[in-house]
Amino acid sequence: MGMNDTPSGERVHIGFFGRRNVGKSSLVNRITGQELSVVSEVAGTTTDPVYKAMELLPMGPVMIIDTPGFDDEGSLGELRVKKTEQILHKTDVAVLVVDAQEGITQCDSQLLTLFREQDIPYIIVVNKSDLLGEEDRITVPPDASYYDEGWNPVYVSACQNENVQQLKERIASLSAVRDTSRRLAADLVQPLDMIVLVVPIDSAAPKGRLILPQQQTIRDLLEAEAVPVVVRENRLAETLDRLGRKPAMVITDSQVFEEVAAVVPREIPLTSFSILMARYKGLLSAAVQGVAAIDRLQDGDRILIAEGCTHHRQCDDIGTVKIPRFLKKYTGKELLIETSSGIGFPEDLSSYALVIHCGGCMLNEREVRWRMKCAQEEGVPITNYGISIAHMKGILARSIEMFPDIKKLLKEEK
Ligand code: SF4
Repeated sequence: MGMNDTPSGERVHIGFFGRRNVGKSSLVNRITGQELSVVSEVAGTTTDPVYKAMELLPMGPVMIIDTPGFDDEGSLGELRVKKTEQILHKTDVAVLVVDAQEGITQCDSQLLTLFREQDIPYIIVVNKSDLLGEEDRITVPPDASYYDEGWNPVYVSACQNENVQQLKERIASLSAVRDTSRRLAADLVQPLDMIVLVVPIDSAAPKGRLILPQQQTIRDLLEAEAVPVVVRENRLAETLDRLGRKPAMVITDSQVFEEVAAVVPREIPLTSFSILMARYKGLLSAAVQGVAAIDRLQDGDRILIAEGCTHHRQCDDIGTVKIPRFLKKYTGKELLIETSSGIGFPEDLSSYALVIHCGGCMLNEREVRWRMKCAQEEGVPITNYGISIAHMKGILARSIEMFPDIKKLLKEEK
């Protein structure tokens, strides 16, 4: 991902589903091919979904997911449903492509049931409609209970390029329903507030750039017309001296929170990128409640450390090395630590005493919420990297002071 691309977690994820041979991929190509700016394409095998990050007017940045044929051989029965569900966990809008001459088949009904179970807004698209006469339009199938939002399919022809624009507008109207009011930091500041951002530049930091949560925070502060001042931790004390006025807030990388907390005067609000990100993804209150479980860990307890992506260049060895080391030192217990990454997130979490998730910067909100739900349904506490580090270092209370409702949830720190 280039520095100026919209991060995948910020894109509206639009999944195209359907059987083989209904023209799903040609429809996706029609939609994406008309746009000049397909910024990346990850091709998979026939059983993997294909992701296309692009700008799609009138919606803006989207992630188009072209899913394998639902009736594909090689992904039969339960496995096929499982794979589809995995994609649905991140799908904001689902598009079901059906064949005009075959109408809604058993497979299509099964997909519609999955959309409804996951509460995903969907559109039914009847492709190859050029092969239908005006009077042959397909009608509501007998099990019409699916269509309580009204039977209102979009008729298109991918090969004739008919009605594709209308389909895009329908997708846009469904995706507009998403809540886009949450902000990373803009709601915490006033115009012209000076905000100091502490960014360590060490061997773990990616060469030549800032990591995603830092880029996004700077961008968000600029939108709010605040004045971000970015500094390395070793220059923080001098910078605060020279600023001439008190910053409205200090936001630090959580790995240097301790050093930073020692330098920043107590009356200046202090938090971390990771806490802001957790709040933004809707995970903060669960993570603050969940972190207390660290204090109850016993010898032999299993802990899952879950990462949102497989390349994790952004977080280096935090999950694999640092957190296990901190946990061992803080609890003094013999713990069984397992890690998962990317889509390998285990659905059955019942055997874990605690899940510690990464910042989830590459995941969209829908997927973060789903992971949280998996843990909560099993009664397994879930927290995240930044919050568990802050807790184990005894600085969590200070880092969430500016969110009084969240702070109330905090159990006594050791
Ligand atoms: S592992 Fe998590 S926090 Fe790290 S880059 Fe991937 S999604 Fe972001």
